[in-house]
Amino acid sequence: MRHHVHWKYDVLVVGGGAAGLAAAVTLGRHGIDTLVVEKRPAPSTWPRATVISTRAMEHVRAWGLEAEVRAEGPDADVWLWECASLASADDGRAVAVGYPTREQAARVSPTAPAVVAQDRFEAVLRRHLTTLPTVRVVSGVEIADVASTGDGVVATTADGRTLRARYLVGADGAHSAVRRAVGIGVRGDEEGVLTGTHAVVRAPLAEVLGEVRFGLYWVTDTPGLYLPAGGDRWIVAPDEDLEDPDAIVAGVRRGAGDPHLDVRVESVRRVRAAAHLAESFRAGDVFLAGDAVHRVTPRGGTGMNTALQSGVDLAWKLAWVLRGWAGPELLDTYEAERRPVAEHVVARSTDPDGSRRDVATELAVDLGARLPHVVLPDGSSTLDLLGPGWTVLAGPRADAAGLAVVRSGSAPVAVHTLDTRAARTLGLGADGTLLARPDGVPVARCSGAVATPRPAAA
Ligand SMILES: Cc1cc2nc3c(=O)[nH]c(=O)nc-3n(C[C@H](O)[C@H](O)[C@H](O)COP(=O)(O)OP(=O)(O)OC[C@H]3O[C@@H](n4cnc5c(N)ncnc54)[C@H](O)[C@@H]3O)c2cc1C
Repeated sequence: MRHHVHWKYDVLVVGGGAAGLAAAVTLGRHGIDTLVVEKRPAPSTWPRATVISTRAMEHVRAWGLEAEVRAEGPDADVWLWECASLASADDGRAVAVGYPTREQAARVSPTAPAVVAQDRFEAVLRRHLTTLPTVRVVSGVEIADVASTGDGVVATTADGRTLRARYLVGADGAHSAVRRAVGIGVRGDEEGVLTGTHAVVRAPLAEVLGEVRFGLYWVTDTPGLYLPAGGDRWIVAPDEDLEDPDAIVAGVRRGAGDPHLDVRVESVRRVRAAAHLAESFRAGDVFLAGDAVHRVTPRGGTGMNTALQSGVDLAWKLAWVLRGWAGPELLDTYEAERRPVAEHVVARSTDPDGSRRDVATELAVDLGARLPHVVLPDGSSTLDLLGPGWTVLAGPRADAAGLAVVRSGSAPVAVHTLDTRAARTLGLGADGTLLARPDGVPVARCSGAVATPRPAAA
């Protein structure tokens, strides 16, 4: 993009976690000059989230990273398997935790949730960013202050340097310095609403199980939750507060039903998780994404996924405005569209029964308003047709001359003619058209006449 006299970068992303990385990938794919600043000199090796949702995996697929991400974890369903011990897991039962099985996902999506630890997932995203020429990531730089000037933003680093950008994305986590600097308050339970111990252990639990078929194992004899975090790495959350590594080793051996199992404790942490929702998602040209704006407890496993989706949503809208494909009013749709989702996941994460939720309801929240997945004759999906600009999906007899009118809109328009079956599954007649945003949300449907892009895209 063209450099402006007042600012060096189009977008400054503060924080290289799930929200910041997803925003940077999306901005980079739109060719937007982006600087990501991350205060950690080296990435965290704490696995944290271990589940990537269906919709988040759809983004990963669109970025061409699905195989690389899936290779980081077991081929498993995100259901909770309840069993007396891991050694007797065959006698257990599956409990829904709000995620579809791979089979259920196949009916609505070209992909499925993945059981991949957050640190490994983020490493894939960081590698991908190095292939995007307009994005630069710098580590070991902390942003201490931020101001929106009315014509861009000025950020000050902890060592006194100044960075100027047209827009700033505050993706700096639950204790966001950006949020504090621009004076946005949060509402919610700032006290710990969920406490416990998380240990990261290395143990051959896959061999004990025979095969890792699920994303979560709840062992009832020696109560505790076991989450596969890649290879022989597992997160263990014992039901009682154990902090002594020897007690953790003894607990895992009992849970596995093998008193001699080779168990190594990598780390033990007390987890004290709270939930909050920011009063506003924006102050001038400064936007908040991820935990900075909507923090959830690990209950329900929605934190990383909601962070990623907010990052993507904000980033494509910033890209459209920066490219002149939409007016700045498009940016108002960020909070309007993401707040209801944030309210849902925050409330779910503070509900004691929030982990065990019905699949259909939570899947609908995760997928949002994107158009349906329909398998096309070549085996691809309608979702694969979405481009960075407008996408028109047309019935087989839609007016090609009329479709050319659409091309005269500000953002580029890609037109795809569907066969009768695919068009019908989308609710389109033979001469019907559907106009979709880059996130797959339909904004207009027409029968006979042509859908014309609206500037605000909302
Ligand atoms: C124990 C635990 C288990 C979890 N389990 C799940 C789960 O199963 N599923 C799920 O979806 N989510 C889970 N989560 C939540 C998930 O980890 C978070 O929601 C997610 O990391 C939020 O991403 P983010 O990018 O908004 O913030 P973060 O991941 O916190 O990233 C923020 C980044 O900003 C950097 N930063 C902070 N301040 C500054 C600054 N001033 N300048 C520059 N950089 C800065 C930080 O170093 C950090 O890298 C869990 C969290 C915890 C703690």
